[in-house]
Amino acid sequence: MNIIIKQQGLLKTPLSLQKNNTFKLLLNRMVHHKVTIIGSGPAAHTAAIYLARAEIKPTLYEGMMANGIAAGGQLTTTTEIENFPGFPDGLTGSELMDRMRAQSEKFGTEIITETISKVDLSSRPFKIWTEFNEDEEPITTDAIVLSTGASAKRLHLPGEETYWQKGISACAVCDGAVPIFRNKPLAVIGGGDSACEEAQFLTKYGSKVYLIVRKDHLRASTIMQRRAEKNEKIEIVYNTVTLEAKGNEKLLNGLRVKNVKTNEESDLEVSGLFYAIGHTPATKIVEGQVDLDESGYIKTVPGSSLTSVPGLFAAGDVQDSRYRQAITSAGSGCMAGLDAERYLTELE
Ligand code: FAD
Ligand code: NAP
Repeated sequence: MNIIIKQQGLLKTPLSLQKNNTFKLLLNRMVHHKVTIIGSGPAAHTAAIYLARAEIKPTLYEGMMANGIAAGGQLTTTTEIENFPGFPDGLTGSELMDRMRAQSEKFGTEIITETISKVDLSSRPFKIWTEFNEDEEPITTDAIVLSTGASAKRLHLPGEETYWQKGISACAVCDGAVPIFRNKPLAVIGGGDSACEEAQFLTKYGSKVYLIVRKDHLRASTIMQRRAEKNEKIEIVYNTVTLEAKGNEKLLNGLRVKNVKTNEESDLEVSGLFYAIGHTPATKIVEGQVDLDESGYIKTVPGSSLTSVPGLFAAGDVQDSRYRQAITSAGSGCMAGLDAERYLTELE
């Protein structure tokens, strides 16, 4: 005898209760969302606020340590935010994200603390699965706002965990102005445009900036290379890899580096280390289903959040290899909210 109960809920399903092979209880969910927002950073919550205020009742999957980052996104991994307009005294990244989340909920966004593990964009409605319903009936949705963000690549050096955010950062624009870096020697690792740009930016604060490049040349565009070469506060250290981040009980104060041509090791005295070795956009769930650029970011139609798949909108760092800031993510989240609203209206 089989009893089948259909329910909307967060239970891991199906749940089979068998007693002497007599009873089998299947809790199965048949869920449809008009619009699903995947992600929980500034882009996701801004899209949610716009869609909720348009009375579309969005559902937002905020993830459960998706990509190793807590719900709320990258800003939950940092301390003070000083460049988000409206907060002249600054506030912590987590506080800013708590406020955005509260604003999404206030206008009626349904927030589900689960990670979306699979998406099928091949037919309408789209199908999505969470990490808890992978083997079951999918959840269906008419539109998706993808705002899963990106994460900065790290080197995982010995000492990195100890000094992360205590001298080590992956965002010069975000953290460069922090007092611990003022008038101190700093280092940037990388040889691309980001590394050159970050090194240039950091010369405003540091006494000197070492640009540590693993090869004998930079990968950056010619103009960025020239700027770095011309800047008297930047010293480009070629053919060099970093072996260890060192410091005292509180803060980073040096790096162990090795010249890969001579194999000679030495110590570099620095108070700040900034990674600029690229980012990884969180696009795994849509890989092969939507157009990506050569670095793996979602391609959007310039000036919009439209992707190569009608009904899939992208916002935030997942589609932005250039600016990667909270305010630009929020701005693109607004665009995605408005684009999705228009799309749904046209569908109806
Ligand atoms: P993210 O913040 O990247 O968040 C996306 C989140 O969505 C993920 O983290 C995860 O929780 C969730 N998610 C991912 N995949 C899934 C899935 N499959 N299912 C469900 N959920 C999922 N910017 C500034 O403007 N000012 C600053 O001072 C500043 N400081 C920073 C400091 C640090 C250390 C870092 C790393 C970044 C900083 N930034 C700062 C950059 C800023 O955090 C990002 O630009 C911004 O958070 C990007 O927002 P987003 O909406 O694209 O998504
Ligand atoms: P990128 O072009 O991929 O460069 C990454 C750099 O990091 C490379 O020099 C690479 O070295 C180095 N690197 C990677 N892994 C490393 C490791 N384990 N150890 C040491 N070094 C390592 O990334 P990006 O600079 O972030 O640029 C991404 C895109 O954004 C590019 O298209 C860029 O043009 C664009 N961008 C443009 C601007 C601008 O125009 N103002 C600013 C920033 C970014 P190798 O060269 O040896 O591989």
